[in-house]
Amino acid sequence: MKILTVIGARPQFIKAAAVSHTFAQQDGIQEVLLHTGQHFDKNMSEVFFKELGIPKPTYNLGIGGGLHGAMTGAQLVGIEEILLQEKPDWVLVYGDTNSTLAGALAAAKLHIPVAHIEAGLRSFNRRMPEEINRVVTDHISALLFAPSATAMQHLMHEGIPTEYCHQVGDVMYDAALLFGERAKQQSTILQQLNLTAGEYILTTIHRAENTDNLQRLQNILKSLSEASQTLPIIWPVHPRTRNLLQQQGLYTLLGKNVHIIEPVGYLDMVMLEQHAAVIATDSGGIQKEAFFYHIPCITLRDETEWVELVDAGWNHIVPPTNTDNITHTLLAAIQSYGTPIHPYGDGHSSSQIAKILLAQA
Ligand code: UDP
Repeated sequence: MKILTVIGARPQFIKAAAVSHTFAQQDGIQEVLLHTGQHFDKNMSEVFFKELGIPKPTYNLGIGGGLHGAMTGAQLVGIEEILLQEKPDWVLVYGDTNSTLAGALAAAKLHIPVAHIEAGLRSFNRRMPEEINRVVTDHISALLFAPSATAMQHLMHEGIPTEYCHQVGDVMYDAALLFGERAKQQSTILQQLNLTAGEYILTTIHRAENTDNLQRLQNILKSLSEASQTLPIIWPVHPRTRNLLQQQGLYTLLGKNVHIIEPVGYLDMVMLEQHAAVIATDSGGIQKEAFFYHIPCITLRDETEWVELVDAGWNHIVPPTNTDNITHTLLAAIQSYGTPIHPYGDGHSSSQIAKILLAQA
């Protein structure tokens, strides 16, 4: 079976690291990797291929940047051409980026069945570009791999045929298990940054709803500065956020205990997560990684797709509309742990996915 996998953004490289690794060990699967180029900086793309052992993509379209329509459209054109040439049996897409949508659309129009990993996630906020991408992708996919029972329920409520949908757990949990130990052995980031385990706050901010809204961004910066009087803050900054901080002259709002660094590789990120006192993020993946490593987390958004973690007390939703509330919730979350739950499978999601795909042959 020939599977053409479309990837393009940082979280997709991490998911692919777990899945492609499994495919490579599986008789009967030939995987062709197509990188759209959505994320192209060395530390947003190349580093993951190197350190996680992801095979070099056969194709790299080099299409990143620009408005959503232009980017998705250009990717659609490029992917279609390659699909016509490669004629895969399946197209595999991950998550909810423009690359996901372009890959799924190009394939569906050519009547090539689409398999969607991380299907069924919903924020019910259609202002998020990610929500549009995931809803459309789910509705044109022939195999939907849901990471949780909640995601599975959403697919059922939307009338997607049951036989298309499989609750397989979260491939990010596979990745966390696969690379968590390696991070402990190989990463020297704590020494490099002169950090003491349990005595810093880790943060990441990159969602458009925060970066493109000056008031929300300012609220986040002020509250981080406030909290950094209690513990230093480490912030590997996403290129989009860095550009906005520069353009808007917002660096002045940051206290000197907020340390902005370049995006780090996955092993260093995992190391930073595993030893943080608390994590403040608007990332989807990092909310779960905090939970995998038993680190309290606050999510700077109005809602989350990973509701199980909120219900169990691992994650706290804090809309970035009130500075004092962010600071207070962030500091109160330190050493406040949730109850034990296991909503995202047993760490063997990738093998289940391979098995289900092979059964379609
Ligand atoms: N990540 C990383 N280095 C960083 C920041 C994040 O390796 O400097 C990893 C993080 O551990 C997680 C993934 O990138 O696995 C999350 O990606 P991102 O926050 O960009 O996207 P989202 O999960 O929100 O879709």
